Amino acid sequence: MQTEHLNHQAGPRGIHRVTVYAASSRALAPAYYQAATRVGEVLAEAGKTIVFGGGGAGLMGAMADGALSRGAQVYGIVPSFLQELELSHAGLTGLEIVADMRTRKHRMLEESDAVVTLPGGCGTYEEVFEALTLKRLGLWLGPVVLVNTNGFYDRFLDFLEHSVRERFMGEAHARMWNVVREPEEVVEALHGAQAWDRDALSFANVGD
Ligand code: AMP
Repeated sequence: MQTEHLNHQAGPRGIHRVTVYAASSRALAPAYYQAATRVGEVLAEAGKTIVFGGGGAGLMGAMADGALSRGAQVYGIVPSFLQELELSHAGLTGLEIVADMRTRKHRMLEESDAVVTLPGGCGTYEEVFEALTLKRLGLWLGPVVLVNTNGFYDRFLDFLEHSVRERFMGEAHARMWNVVREPEEVVEALHGAQAWDRDALSFANVGD
């Protein structure tokens, strides 16, 4: 699979297509669903096209419902085994069926100008870490915004900062992500994120 240079255009002024990573869980406190719906609404109101995992449940479904309710184009990318289980959202603009999870993850990032990450479990972590890893290597260049609803990501962010303090990542790498608390802050964070370019490869290795 080709992973080099997933995104040639990304930059603070060219954010049209936003990939959203979010939990599949149906068992969360209501505040998480409300925030996810609101994120979908604000992205839609800002004219963004949304790409996500295609699930109808959890924060994924809430975000997609919010975006669709405000007229956004929302595309799901789903592996065939999940489609067969009928776990996909029924009302999307488009649903792309792919062979497996790996292809899905790649397709979600390919063509997307930015990533928004809502609270989630291991599936969401894997997705956001892939985006950050490719960004560190200069292979994908867009903003990565974490929505820290209820302080859900506080310990996750502590761990990332710990990784920088211990020199597993450099200080510059801590500028790969931006954190907001409220859905209303997401669009500004996307457009205000520090520009990133392929030169990131020159400082990908700490200590060189
Ligand atoms: P998790 O955070 O572990 O709940 O996983 C959610 C992430 O993994 C989402 O961003 C999706 O891309 C993917 N995912 C997990 N479960 C599903 C599902 N039932 N339908 C669609 N995508 C899913």
